[in-house]
Amino acid sequence: MSIPLEKSGKPNVHDYFCKTECTWCDGCGDYGIMAATKRALVELEIAPHEVALCFDIGCHGNTSDKMLGYRVHGLHGRILPFASGAKLANPNMPVLAFGGDGASFSEGVNHLVHSIRSHYPITFVLHNNANYGLTTGQASSLTWQDQPMNTSPNGIPEDTIRPMDFIFSLQPTFVARTWSGDIPQMTRVLKAAIQHRGFAFVDILQACPTYNKFATHEWLLEKCYDANADGHDPSDLVAAKKIACDTSEKVSCGILYQNEDRPHFYEKLVPRQGVKTTAVEEVEITDVSGLMKEFV
Ligand code: SF4
Ligand code: MG
Repeated sequence: MSIPLEKSGKPNVHDYFCKTECTWCDGCGDYGIMAATKRALVELEIAPHEVALCFDIGCHGNTSDKMLGYRVHGLHGRILPFASGAKLANPNMPVLAFGGDGASFSEGVNHLVHSIRSHYPITFVLHNNANYGLTTGQASSLTWQDQPMNTSPNGIPEDTIRPMDFIFSLQPTFVARTWSGDIPQMTRVLKAAIQHRGFAFVDILQACPTYNKFATHEWLLEKCYDANADGHDPSDLVAAKKIACDTSEKVSCGILYQNEDRPHFYEKLVPRQGVKTTAVEEVEITDVSGLMKEFV
């Protein structure tokens, strides 16, 4: 299905519809995350031909053929460099990158570190189901302690990475958490993330009923609460760290921290300052047909 080249009126969710059949398991949180992503884009009046949707490898990565948009399905753990490059080439284009907890906190954890410290102006959506679902329930570095998984039936011998402690150690400017059963909350959070000035980190706790038997949909429903509705001020860094990192009793969700004072990567690039055109507009089309004749 082709992407409409001209924007005609306001986009709606049907514009993002793709005929490819969904193959996710029944009850998978990917359905809700995809629905919220579409709603956020539509409510921001962003049409499929105006956004880059960049997917890592994993069950969630199959969203790349389940919704329209300019899409790429990258190598395992490597989606953030691609997404950052796309944004730097065309800073006018919203860029969303999606990655799982396996790829983002193991194979590609270096890219997550450098994307946050570089403050690339993109949105990163973490599909956090605390396991490698696509490879049938392998433990990831976010799998909880003492949970039997297919490749570690006695629980993992390693420590579990605490993602919010890790993220806050990197001085982020936008940190949010939400969960896959709350489409209105995910939509609100994603809209704020897409509109954020710099790198936005969105942790979506995702139900994976097939392999994650601990953070189930029911557990998430019981534990998650809307911190913003509870009066949390996202400009308060100390409070944000505290409620983000301490999940012993309840799990805070919503926009936990936001700081829009810091210039992002592109704004700090001296050679681009004052330049009105984008890199994609500056690319010269070179006729190489003469050169090619030398090799035929
Ligand atoms: Fe979703 Fe888990 Fe099934 Fe993958 S294995 S499609 S993450 S429920
Ligand atoms: Mg995962």
